[in-house]
Amino acid sequence: MRILQRMKFFLILFLCATAGRYAASQDLVIEDAKVYVSPDAAPLTGATVVVRQGKIAELTTHPVKVKGATVLPCKGCVVCAGFWNTHVHFMEPKWYDAAHAPADKLEEQLQAMLTRAGFTSVVDTASDPANTVALRKRVESGEVPGPHIYTAGWPLFPAHALPFYLDDLPPEFRAQLGQPEDEAQVDALIERNRALGTDVVKLFTGSYIKRGKVAPMSLTLARRAVEDAHRNGRIVFAHPSNAEGIQIAIDSGVDVLAHAPDTVKGVDDSLLKRAVEHRMTMVPTLKLFSGTDNIVEIRAIVKRFHDMGGALMFGTDTGYLTDYDYTEEFRQLHQVGLSDRDVLAMLTTVPSRRLGVGAQKGTVTKGLAADLTVLSTDPDSGDPIAFTQVLYTIAGGRVIYRRAGAAQTGALR
Ligand SMILES: [Zn+2]
Repeated sequence: MRILQRMKFFLILFLCATAGRYAASQDLVIEDAKVYVSPDAAPLTGATVVVRQGKIAELTTHPVKVKGATVLPCKGCVVCAGFWNTHVHFMEPKWYDAAHAPADKLEEQLQAMLTRAGFTSVVDTASDPANTVALRKRVESGEVPGPHIYTAGWPLFPAHALPFYLDDLPPEFRAQLGQPEDEAQVDALIERNRALGTDVVKLFTGSYIKRGKVAPMSLTLARRAVEDAHRNGRIVFAHPSNAEGIQIAIDSGVDVLAHAPDTVKGVDDSLLKRAVEHRMTMVPTLKLFSGTDNIVEIRAIVKRFHDMGGALMFGTDTGYLTDYDYTEEFRQLHQVGLSDRDVLAMLTTVPSRRLGVGAQKGTVTKGLAADLTVLSTDPDSGDPIAFTQVLYTIAGGRVIYRRAGAAQTGALR
């Protein structure tokens, strides 16, 4: 009797372990798909993508049977590499205490904000790092289905120059916002973020202290912050606001402009050319500015930067913007004059390379991570919001979002 009980105990343990492994990643076969292998390659049609142990195991135009695999029938749908959103924030109160919040609540929130829109990787460009790193740990452990999260933690502002639009933040949150006055304070703030497990650094090289009035960050301190970050292999995002903020970002060695400039005066071709020469990447965040008088000029700046060879990454400031509607960003990018392939590169290859994981993700290639975004509408259709028509979001071989009614046959999830 005792032996039977013990066997039962081990059987339950075995089943739990097996269920956990299947929940973390599963063998998948995506059948009869159109596959955008990369933004600059011809798409494959009638293709099969086989996912095993979190990686793309096969990409073929022949039918493939994999015993026990979940089959995602994909006739008429489109497989892309997993999408990136390189400007989000986990700073709404609903993310507080992510270490202890129920897993299903976090999953629901991640779906509403990100995975429903196909994002398999995101860059949080400012939030409480203790909280965001706790969220990331629960995603990485497989407990909470979600995207890969990179975080900047607490951003650095110019001395005595918090942005006016953060006035309503709770005082305990505002108290954490570093406004260094010397290099030692910069070192301490960068080290505080590093110790908390952040991946990137965010600076406000230009901070709106009032509507229409930008305070610049000291070039000496911006340089120090970039040196500290690069020494530890972290890239630096900057919120520039205006021409001076871009110039400080260029002169200090910043890697990414987290927004297009929205004060456009003085942002001319020579400044943009210098930004391109310094291999700076820009995240336009056009929806954020779409209600302003300057939006036509801002789009023109993004176009000039792109035409000069500047790299663009997709990002939306979601989390600061709380409606989670991505259609306007894609419409704006279309109005800039970017092609659907340009936008696909912004969503996939450019951010993968910029964040240093170009060898592991960004294209649909055998051996790469199975981060995939499956759409029900082809971006080739000329409709910019095709990119929002997400059927499945797959991160590391795990289906982290499936649109209600999407077909699936085979093994249980
Ligand atoms: Zn932001």
